Amino acid sequence: MRYVLGFILVVALAAGGLFLYAGRLPGPAIEIAKPTKYVGQAGTLEVAIAAPGAKLTSFKIAFEQNGKQTALASLAQPGNAEIKHDGPDKVRITRAIGRDSIPDLKSGPARIIVTAERPVMYGLRKTQSTASHDVTVRLEKPTIAVISTKHYINLGGAEMVVYRATPADVESGVQVGDLTYPGFPASGAKVEGVHIADPAVKIAFIALRWDQDINTPMHAYAKDEAGNAARADFDHLAFPKPFKKSKIPLDDKFLDRVVPAILDTTTEVNPQGSNLEKFLVINGELRQKNAQTIANYAKQSAPEILWGGAVFHPFTNTAVEAAFADQRTYVYDGKEVDRQTHLGFDLARVVNSPVVAANRGKVLHAGPLGIYGNCVILDHGMGVQSLYGHLSSIAVKVGDMVEKEQEMGKSGMTGLAGGDHLHFTMLVNGVMVNPVEWWDAHWIQDRILRKLHEASSGT
Ligand SMILES: [Zn+2]
Repeated sequence: MRYVLGFILVVALAAGGLFLYAGRLPGPAIEIAKPTKYVGQAGTLEVAIAAPGAKLTSFKIAFEQNGKQTALASLAQPGNAEIKHDGPDKVRITRAIGRDSIPDLKSGPARIIVTAERPVMYGLRKTQSTASHDVTVRLEKPTIAVISTKHYINLGGAEMVVYRATPADVESGVQVGDLTYPGFPASGAKVEGVHIADPAVKIAFIALRWDQDINTPMHAYAKDEAGNAARADFDHLAFPKPFKKSKIPLDDKFLDRVVPAILDTTTEVNPQGSNLEKFLVINGELRQKNAQTIANYAKQSAPEILWGGAVFHPFTNTAVEAAFADQRTYVYDGKEVDRQTHLGFDLARVVNSPVVAANRGKVLHAGPLGIYGNCVILDHGMGVQSLYGHLSSIAVKVGDMVEKEQEMGKSGMTGLAGGDHLHFTMLVNGVMVNPVEWWDAHWIQDRILRKLHEASSGT
């Protein structure tokens, strides 16, 4: 009898110990991914819960502010939350968070609290975990209003917008279809006679890309970290531009010269086959990769106007061999083999002519760049940049500040060039735009300087 009692006691103690132990096993892993810092008028809540080897038995997500809790979602009452299974034992809960879900929401500190349970000991016990995340509620909407007037934009061309956005540190810019152009503080408009001290006034250089619709919608926007947003329309007129068509004949002599030379300078493509087949990869895939490399330089643009308001002139007394957005058809052996758009101007004078900086700027690229051969890219600030391709030699290096008309190298026929010429283009936030506008003093005056002076006298 004593043995039996002893045995029962041992079993009971073991079971009890196991029960206690199971209760101390870690609960589900909780990750509050969104919001990271701020809750605004309307934002997103995203929580991931993982319970390895088990199913979740319950979870609760609550919002706590000024001692009051509001339930946002639970397993039993998901409400407006979307619960997605990220594998057999992981769920991801997403829902809107803001004024609609928390009627008493006030600006100030708050906290998101998540508790979750998973079964242990074959479902006889549950183990719980809790996670919390401090956030700041910001409900004040930013404001934005466009100051500049008369925006005329050509297809493939550029424009400039001046606007006022508050608070002064709010992220803002101009949206043109699916492309975004950041705004820069107008205090960086270092142009004679222009002084804009108001930190809320911003400048955005924008473009209507050559292949966008002429009726592409555009507006200025401001968006804070809490997701509060404001937008402002501005008066604008867009003008179509007929682009020329041209034929580029290809022959073996040309392909034998350019194809191996370009492939020697890049590892971005590695085509096989005949020189014509390799050329088609260079003209298509490498052209696109080069455009992406060039567009990425926009991120390095200075927040100020480095060029002082003078016109852009890359070359003087030149013959124009090809214009912006020419629609090119490539012909080999009497057959059409490719089509591309030529996004620049081809300017020719004499072999090895000096290539000068179109305006004051900083060298961001000086070296081979795929189809552009030896290439220089200059930053002129606020997203405005210029590109010089096919050079035979380069006399500047990355980081150099160059003055307007300073020699940067000699023209040549490196890259995809049929003869000695300069390929020149302007860029606005990485988008290639028609350079003709930028070498027109009247255009610079009306599209840029007029607006800067108006904003300057108005503040
Ligand atoms: Zn060209």
